[in-house]
This record gives sequence, structure tokens and C-alpha cells, in this order.
Amino acid sequence: MSENNTRCNYCGRTLYKQVSEKYFVCSQKCKRLIKNSTYIETVDSLVLRVNSTKWSTVDDLNKKVDINKFDFISSVRRLIYFKGLLLTKEKKEINQKSLISKVKI
Ligand SMILES: [Zn+2]
Repeated sequence: MSENNTRCNYCGRTLYKQVSEKYFVCSQKCKRLIKNSTYIETVDSLVLRVNSTKWSTVDDLNKKVDINKFDFISSVRRLIYFKGLLLTKEKKEINQKSLISKVKI
């Protein structure tokens, strides 16, 4: 994961307040979740798998897998902002209605 200190390293939202000295995270919830790297990797690979090179909304893709909304959209943001594996048409922050797709390789 690339260094990006302007966003929470778990949920990918803009970081206004850092709650940990060790991690760049926005909340106690994200601080707890970022420690589970196995879970993060599993969710990231599932989220990548349901995406295609066509545009779909976050919400529609989330319906295809059994991952809670918060963890799903957090993964989407990580894959867009940190890993560069997904794209968005959104100029604003990513939400459930944002259109996303896989980066064509
Ligand atoms: Zn967060």
C-alpha cells in the first residue's frame, strides 16, 4: 500500500483527525480493522473479483457479495486511492452511488 497520509488507511476517507500514533486512521473502528490484514486482503480480492471494466455502482456490486457496506466501500476506496486498481467517475468522495470500474490492464 502506498503512503498516503491524507486519507484514512482503512476506510480511505479524508483524514481530518488522526486517532492513532501508529496508523493513519480516522476512528477507533478503523484502528481496530486495519490490524486485520488477512481480512483486508480477502475483502480486497473479493471486491476486485466482482468489478469489471464496465461502470457499476458501489451499491450494485456490494449486493453480489456478503460483505458489510462499510468494509466494502472502504475496500473500494483503498483500491482506488492507494492501489490504483479501480477507477471512479466521481469527482467528490466515493459513496454508495458512485460509478466504479476496474482499471484496464
Ligand atoms: Zn477510517
